[in-house]
Amino acid sequence: MRLSVAVPLYNEEANVPELLRRVAAVLDAVPGGPHELVCVDDGSSDRTVELVSAAAAADPRITLVVLSRNFGHQAALSAALQHATGDVVVMMDGDLQDPPEAIPRLLEQYHRGYDVVYVTRVQRKEPWHLRLAYRLAYRLIARLSSIDVPVDAGDFSLMSRRVVDVLNGLPERQRYLRGLRSWAGFRQTGIEVERDARRAGTSKYTFSKLLQLAIDGMLTFSAVPLRAAAATGALAVVASLLFAAYSVYVRLVVGHSPEGFTALIVALTFLSGVQLLFLGVIGEYLGRIFNEVKDRPAYVVERVVRSPDGSSVRPPVS
Ligand code: UDP
Ligand code: MG
Repeated sequence: MRLSVAVPLYNEEANVPELLRRVAAVLDAVPGGPHELVCVDDGSSDRTVELVSAAAAADPRITLVVLSRNFGHQAALSAALQHATGDVVVMMDGDLQDPPEAIPRLLEQYHRGYDVVYVTRVQRKEPWHLRLAYRLAYRLIARLSSIDVPVDAGDFSLMSRRVVDVLNGLPERQRYLRGLRSWAGFRQTGIEVERDARRAGTSKYTFSKLLQLAIDGMLTFSAVPLRAAAATGALAVVASLLFAAYSVYVRLVVGHSPEGFTALIVALTFLSGVQLLFLGVIGEYLGRIFNEVKDRPAYVVERVVRSPDGSSVRPPVS
């Protein structure tokens, strides 16, 4: 059995030395091999590339894929999956929030016959408002999705070769990997691992990137928001019919017309607001269709660095 560890890195110079050390220790301990570590540099502007290339020159197990610019976490992770050659691939973050020491526990489940072993976080060491936002987003995504997405499972996971091949073969560019991983199917299970705080540096996710990821998670696996427009429209029609009937009744039986300028304005602004809202929802889907139709790749590889006597050499995939 050959293990690949796939890690995206974006300005992680402060974490790289310890990351390489801890992953190497795990690779040493896992039976089988040769194992590999595939790092993807997602357009870092610090010394990440320098540090990892130096390590790759010295250790044939390390491959560095340098992207031509910053393409984002999910794209970088996809690049890492494309370049991983192992029978089993573990994807994890490069900031050591996911402890590499948990990999043997993931492998244990793999040897029990599971194709996907994802990690659910038991404890998040993040500020409470972020924790709340994560909880809500994960639950909302799980609710809306047409597939079963496990709640609180991040990207840290193990996947067998056949699952990785399925993911690599998916043509979509806006990749929400934890959703696609569930979508792929096969035998899946989760284990709990305590998530550490980021070891050094700051989170590369800004609030808006995080929101974007959550929206991706909701929209790429669900048409419920589109259907909600139809449902809201139907409700409005029913309300309007009832009110029309009431108006006729008041006019004919009671003998005066209902009035109310305020009610009119409220109804008008409310309904135009609802319309614009759903126009926005349709726009979100349209934007996604636009992005997919253009058929641009999710990332561009600038170069692949590995030691000349690397045992895991395979022609680069772009
Ligand atoms: N990352 C990346 N490209 C980006 C943003 C992040 O490759 O545009 C990497 C980052 O270096 C880290 C992982 O993705 O290894 C997760 O990022 P981060 O820790 O900032 O996210 P958080 O844990 O805060 O959600
Ligand atoms: Mg992190």
